[in-house]
Amino acid sequence: MTTTKKPPASRRRSPGPVPVAPPCGTCDGTGETTTTVRVGRKRREIGAIQTGLCPDCFGTGTA
Ligand SMILES: [Zn+2]
Repeated sequence: MTTTKKPPASRRRSPGPVPVAPPCGTCDGTGETTTTVRVGRKRREIGAIQTGLCPDCFGTGTA
């Protein structure tokens, strides 16, 4: 009688890191894009910032 002891299979399935959606690169994860409005006359910059929904992630902030 041969007792072949198999080593306990240590196949623990580690759940691992929870997959996190990478942040959108366009809006940097904010979900919004800011566009500085410039008025061309005399190179004046009024510096109005328009915030809009990110066209890439549609406001979700994740790519
Ligand atoms: Zn985005």
